[in-house]
Amino acid sequence: MKIRKYTYVLSTHLQKSSQSAIPFIFAAMKQFDVPVFYRSALISAIKKNRKEKDKLKKDFTPTLLDFGPVQIYLARHFGFCYGVENAIEIAFKTVQENPGKRIFLLSEMIHNPQVNADLVEYGVQFLQDTRGKELIPFESLTKDDIVLIPAFGTTLDIEEKLTTIGIAIEKYNTTCPFVEKVWNRSAAIAKKNYTIIIHGKPSHEETRATFSHAAANAPAVVVKDMKEAQRLALYITGQLNADDFYKEFHNQYSRGFDVARDLERIGVVNQTTMLASDTQAIADYLKQVMIDRHQLSKENLSDRFADTRDTLCYATNDNQTSVSAMLQTDADLAIVVGGYNSSNTSHLVELCEELLPTYYINSPDKIISQKEILHFNFHTQQELLTSGYLLSKNPLKLLVTSGASCPDILVEKVIERIAGFYGEALSVDEVIQQLQ
Ligand code: SF4
Repeated sequence: MKIRKYTYVLSTHLQKSSQSAIPFIFAAMKQFDVPVFYRSALISAIKKNRKEKDKLKKDFTPTLLDFGPVQIYLARHFGFCYGVENAIEIAFKTVQENPGKRIFLLSEMIHNPQVNADLVEYGVQFLQDTRGKELIPFESLTKDDIVLIPAFGTTLDIEEKLTTIGIAIEKYNTTCPFVEKVWNRSAAIAKKNYTIIIHGKPSHEETRATFSHAAANAPAVVVKDMKEAQRLALYITGQLNADDFYKEFHNQYSRGFDVARDLERIGVVNQTTMLASDTQAIADYLKQVMIDRHQLSKENLSDRFADTRDTLCYATNDNQTSVSAMLQTDADLAIVVGGYNSSNTSHLVELCEELLPTYYINSPDKIISQKEILHFNFHTQQELLTSGYLLSKNPLKLLVTSGASCPDILVEKVIERIAGFYGEALSVDEVIQQLQ
């Protein structure tokens, strides 16, 4: 196994969550060892500066990097979150501490191509693809192998498979505590005999894991969007034939699900990285469906609907709020950096593209020149080449952010690349000076 030497640096960007309801105070304190090659001196300086000026994380306005002919507005919060840093720290330490051992990842560590490619370079092998398709047969594993469980968590079936082989899963489990929080919320809802409605992407690793944990305690159904929530409502109200439910929600309901019985009392949880406004709209909608169906009042609402807060994580909330604040700027375009299969990144793109031309890239190399950019359309799942994306304006105003699994170094390179197109632009050091 090839081990590349690297230096660890301490991350200090985790701060107390802006969601006071989140009981994970440790998120405020914990610092992680993350390989230095994911860090950026520029971004670290900006984050440090913002943190010092805004200790309570109340200010979501973007940071202006004024290069002169191009003005870059950088979102207040972006980049590696608690769960991602935790997973990366465990993964790289596992590689360092276990020379000669076979190390597997259940699937992608996080949804970032560079991080996953780096782990492969260190000799880590992937057991499954992101949709759960087996790449290496589980039968070939032995009890001496190490299997890392990614930040999204995994299903109870897979946990059992690994345990049966004799693999110690606890030690190398990088499941994010904010994902576990969703499982705990599901268990609490199940205990009160509600059916669990999961708002999430049915094929996403996290939703598959949450579904598995939820279904162990109660009937469960996954709805991916408002359209599916509206279809589910027609089964709740009996307007559609129950038999059709099983076809329509194929692979999205738990074993033994009974439409007549299991849609009488419901509660909603979410994949941690959904769009906050969608999640709120779906919970409000289903609540209203239950109120109308059962003639509920405030006093007896809980007879039929578990009225709880959403289970989005702090990073999703902070990053989406930061993008909304950044979108107050009258800008010309936005660049969002992140893995193309990253749920949280795609929602940042969704917010931006409502208001201005938005380019979703997974690497600074996608900025081919001042004229051309190769970017991802997540609606069609295709990469496109666009010409003339940088308008000839002075100053050109550009919004930049990244997803929770994107190393800061990629954002730094994007900023340098764009600024580098303008000969008369200030240097990065001069821009940093302005921020002091
Ligand atoms: S996006 Fe949220 S839930 Fe996912 S790993 Fe990061 S902190 Fe955890």
